[in-house]
Amino acid sequence: MEPRGETDRKQGRRGRRTGCAAGTLFLVIAGLFLGRGTLIDYLGGHSALRALDEGETLSPRARALVERCFAGLDPTRLVDYHAHLAGIGRGSDCWVNPRMQSLWHPRDHLRLAIYRSAAGVRPDDPDDAYADLLAALASREPRPPRPLLLAFDYRYDPSGKRDLEHSEFYVPNDYALALRDAHPGLFLAAASIHPYRDDAVRELERVAARGVSLIKWLPAAQGIDPADPRCDPFYAACVRLHVALLVHVGEEQAVEAEADQELGNPLRLRRPLEQGVVVIAAHCASLGENLDLDDPARPRVRAFELFMRLMGEKRFEGRLFGEISTVTQRNRYGGVLATLLERRDLHPRLVNGSDWPLPGVNVLTSTRALCAEGFLTPSERETLGEIYQWSPLLFDFCLKRVLRSPRTGQGFAGVLFEAKEGLPGY
Ligand SMILES: [Zn+2]
Repeated sequence: MEPRGETDRKQGRRGRRTGCAAGTLFLVIAGLFLGRGTLIDYLGGHSALRALDEGETLSPRARALVERCFAGLDPTRLVDYHAHLAGIGRGSDCWVNPRMQSLWHPRDHLRLAIYRSAAGVRPDDPDDAYADLLAALASREPRPPRPLLLAFDYRYDPSGKRDLEHSEFYVPNDYALALRDAHPGLFLAAASIHPYRDDAVRELERVAARGVSLIKWLPAAQGIDPADPRCDPFYAACVRLHVALLVHVGEEQAVEAEADQELGNPLRLRRPLEQGVVVIAAHCASLGENLDLDDPARPRVRAFELFMRLMGEKRFEGRLFGEISTVTQRNRYGGVLATLLERRDLHPRLVNGSDWPLPGVNVLTSTRALCAEGFLTPSERETLGEIYQWSPLLFDFCLKRVLRSPRTGQGFAGVLFEAKEGLPGY
């Protein structure tokens, strides 16, 4: 789940892609006329989640596939480095922009409803229901990789002032930490701290003292430029406290302003990397284009290409990692997934993530398309479908374990799924 920025920001606007607008219109009209609940659950998943029904078991065939997925891995070292938390302030200090809950903003409203459906949360549920369901899925045997719960900070303007109007949602650091502590051994937690905040370094020191070693940023939505010298004191503190950054790079679909999209340019990560910060590039920049800042002509190139260029820089080995959540999604895998599968040399530098609750959004992953292109066999596809109904979280892990490059037959190496030195869970 990634938030979207305000659509009417004055600078750097670009037109909404026609296909996207048409799609939204369709969703809204269909939502209004077909009955919201049903349509939202269809799009948003809310799979049967049979893992939570007492007595329900996987078929022998599905169990065999799951066993194959865990073979050769140390289950205590499996980590999911990208699991979102969310709440609307019902019994927690979480917040979402009121726009997201307003019928006057049907696109935002529908998006929130889909995320909640995917997470298995009903409109009247208290905020804790979200984490309760994730905890239930994460603790059912066989356990999927341990979710790392992400806090999420507000957007701040360049002067360090909180920008509530353009903030998408907020998950307090202490909320993520409280959930981690309430479920010993089940969850890890990451904080989110905007580096322009006056108290950024103090907050980093505070959460580091509570065992946090990863900070989540979504530059395009939060208004963070990783290449801004204003971040330097924060970077110095990250190095001193051995705290890494998890940074969303590549296009953030929900953000309209091109100036904001550029904040997700993978090449902007050179600044923290050069200062010694360990950085995880979320999604391997698998979507969209950014300016090639190394070329004076500044052409637009695939963000993934820029990410791979960064991975190719020797000086960043051991410091730069890529995170593979969402690379299996229908709008992302083309030109990305096969390359990542085949680059076995990079697998020790890739980490796993689910981007929960996105695995629960039906429409995002098409095993039919992955099968048609040779990433899966028809029988694997069918069995994965059963696992999806059992638990979308376990499905996400199994899908990534089963995928094979159609060209070479290579899959993701086991090392990719295990915690890395210098990162949480190691
Ligand atoms: Zn995410």
